Amino acid sequence: MRSRYLIAVGGNVRHPRYGSPPKVLRAALRALDGEKGIKLKAASRIVASAPLGPSQRRYANAAVIVRSKLDPPALLARLQAIEHRFARRRRGRRWGARTLDLDIVLWSMGAWASPGLAIPHPAYRTRGFVLAPALTIARDWRDPLTVLTIAHLAARLTRRTPLPIRQPGRALSSVGRATDF
Ligand code: AMP
Repeated sequence: MRSRYLIAVGGNVRHPRYGSPPKVLRAALRALDGEKGIKLKAASRIVASAPLGPSQRRYANAAVIVRSKLDPPALLARLQAIEHRFARRRRGRRWGARTLDLDIVLWSMGAWASPGLAIPHPAYRTRGFVLAPALTIARDWRDPLTVLTIAHLAARLTRRTPLPIRQPGRALSSVGRATDF
């Protein structure tokens, strides 16, 4: 059965062929849409956000909605293959430089948990750089675990309201801080 996925797209490293991070993201969206069995239904604008942790480069971020018959592990495998094609560097540092990062944020069929894959994405609710672009294409999409919409989650983050479920990590960045490229 066909379902929809909300995917967060990010990167903060130039690519020798595609250029600056926003250009890498544009190429990545084209690659995603060109994948067999994946149809791009909506894409946010590409926004800039402050670097996380020790990385000094600004990130480019976007959110997209895709439609697919692929189940979550199969979609993740495709996303990781695209990341690989964009020569993402895995340096072992959690917040290191990365050419392209593709995360599954939400799935229209609800929650998923298997080794190496959790949907909703465990950290997205406190990440302004995910919520700000997602708000523009999926404001009424409801998180199955908190039962809050993207619009609710973004508003809570701006007001620093605690979430009703336990959140790992810290990285509280304001939704309002993202700016357009
Ligand atoms: P990161 O380096 O932060 O992008 O993490 C990538 C790892 O997170 C991958 O090895 C995935 O197996 C795992 N992972 C768990 N849940 C998700 C998700 N919802 N979307 C993408 N990757 C996920």
